[in-house]
Amino acid sequence: PRSLVTPQKRDDDTDASIRPLTLADFTGQEAARANLKVFIEAAKTRGDALDHVLFVGPPGLGKTTLAQIMARELGVNFRSTSGPVIAKAGDLAAQLTNLEPRDVLFIDEIHRLNPAVEEILYPAMEDFQLDLIIGEGPAARSVKIDLAKFTLVGATTRAGLLTTPLRDRFGIPVRLNFYTVEELELIVRRGARVLGLGMTDGGAREIARRSRGTPRIAGRLLRRVRDFAIVEGAEQVTRELADRTLTLLEVDSIGLDVMDRRYLDMVALNFGGGPVGIETIAAALSEPRDAIEDIIEPYLLQQGFLQRTPRGRLLTPHAFRHLGLAEPQRGPA
Ligand code: ADP
Repeated sequence: PRSLVTPQKRDDDTDASIRPLTLADFTGQEAARANLKVFIEAAKTRGDALDHVLFVGPPGLGKTTLAQIMARELGVNFRSTSGPVIAKAGDLAAQLTNLEPRDVLFIDEIHRLNPAVEEILYPAMEDFQLDLIIGEGPAARSVKIDLAKFTLVGATTRAGLLTTPLRDRFGIPVRLNFYTVEELELIVRRGARVLGLGMTDGGAREIARRSRGTPRIAGRLLRRVRDFAIVEGAEQVTRELADRTLTLLEVDSIGLDVMDRRYLDMVALNFGGGPVGIETIAAALSEPRDAIEDIIEPYLLQQGFLQRTPRGRLLTPHAFRHLGLAEPQRGPA
C-alpha cells in the first residue's frame, strides 16, 4: 500500500473539485505559466494549433492539470492517454484519427511508449500524417492518412528518459519544479475555500510544510485533515489540529515519505552516509533505479539532504540532523 505522502496518483485522490481550471487559478510555476500564456495567446491569434509541449518534472506537480488548462484556454477538446496504456500502433492511430483541428492530446508517461508506437508518432507530430502498414508479407502496403493539426502534450518525469528523436519533436519543453511552502500554502487555502473548510494561517502553513513540495500531496493531506476536523466538530483547522492529524497519520514533520526515510536510513546506517553508487542503493532497497532517481531523489536533493558526487550519493549533515543521527567522522577525502 502506498503511503499518504507518496507523490504518485492513488485511487482515492478525488481531487477534481479543487483542481484549478484556469492559468490564473494555477499557483506557482511562474516561468512555465508565463511562457504558456504567451504561446497560447499567439496560437489563438493565429488560429493555429499550439506547438507540441513536453512537461518534465516529478509526479504530482501539475503536468496533467496544466495540459487540461491549456485545452480549456485554447477552447479545444482535451484527450488523454498514457504511454503504458497504448499497447499497439493501432491504438494510437485510433486516438489520432479522432482528433479535431487544434485539439490537445495528452500522453502521460510518454517515455513508456513502446518503440513501435513511438515510430508512428514521429510523422504524426511532424507532418500530421499517419504512415500505416496494412497487411503482411508481400501483400503489405503502406497507406498515408492525413490528421487534423493537433497539439501533443507529453509528460515525463525526466527528459533524459525520452529518445532523442521524440524529445526533438517537442517545440516547447517546460520544466516543473517543486513548490515552495508559500505556494503550497496558497494552494491549501484555496482548496479549503473550495471544500468550505475553515482554515487558519497556521493550519495552512503546517499542511504546506508537510506536503513534500507537491500539490497532489497537499490536496490529499488537506482532505485527511478535513476528516479529522469534521469528526472533532472543529470549526477551523488550526496548526495544532493539522499537526496532530498529520503526526497520527505518520507524515514526517517535513513530509518525507516512508520510501524517503528508508532511503536516508539505509545510506546513513549501512553506508556511513556514502558516497554510495545508485545501483547499490537500488539493490539494497529492492527498488528500480528509475523510481529512485525520478521520485525519491529529486526532493531529497532539493531539500539539501543529498548530494550527487562523482563517487556516488552522499548524505549531508542536514540529513543526519533530520534523522537524529550523529554524523560519521569522515577521514580526509
Ligand atoms: P502530474 O500530472 O504532474 O502528476 P497533476 O496535474 O495530476 O500532476 O496534479 C496533481 C493534483 O495536484 C491535481 O489534482 C491538482 O488538483 C493539484 N495541483 C497540481 N498543481 C496545482 C497548482 N499549481 N495549484 C493547485 N492545485 C494543483
